[in-house]
Amino acid sequence: MASGELGHHNGLPTTVIVTTTLAELEKGAGHAVTAGGTLIPMSDLIRMASHAFHYLCIFDGNGIPLHLGRSKRLASPGQRIVMLAKDRGCTAPGCTASGYQCQVHHATLDWKRGGNTDIEDLTLACGPHNRLIENTPWTTGKRGDGITEWIPPPALDCGQSRTNTYHHPERLLAPDDP
Ligand SMILES: [Zn+2]
Repeated sequence: MASGELGHHNGLPTTVIVTTTLAELEKGAGHAVTAGGTLIPMSDLIRMASHAFHYLCIFDGNGIPLHLGRSKRLASPGQRIVMLAKDRGCTAPGCTASGYQCQVHHATLDWKRGGNTDIEDLTLACGPHNRLIENTPWTTGKRGDGITEWIPPPALDCGQSRTNTYHHPERLLAPDDP
């Protein structure tokens, strides 16, 4: 990757996006998760990080992005990095598309209809799900905890899940998961 000859993907230079917790990083043990869903041993992450451009994205306990810092200026949208670290993949219920296959989508109001670009308003959606929002009565919104929900039109609403835990299996284990 240091060669700079690997090109771009969806507007970012070839980049590895990895998420982990501070506790696991400090222990130097456990696993981190890439935006493609791959588990990386913490020792490999620390080794890779020694010669990388570092971004640091911090979330609060509810998944709300608090801060994005970077060690060196890159001509790339930091917002996409935040989204890859936070959502990891398409937020549509049951969708398995990884972060690398997704575009940034405005969760509460599309920019064409006056939406803003605040980071809290953005989410990841794959191509087909972006088109579902653009071309059908389906809508998306943000819950109070920052998780994106997909709201079906009334005729298709049969009580199905509105959020996607495929890329966040840890949410299924959270004791107070709503
Ligand atoms: Zn999708």
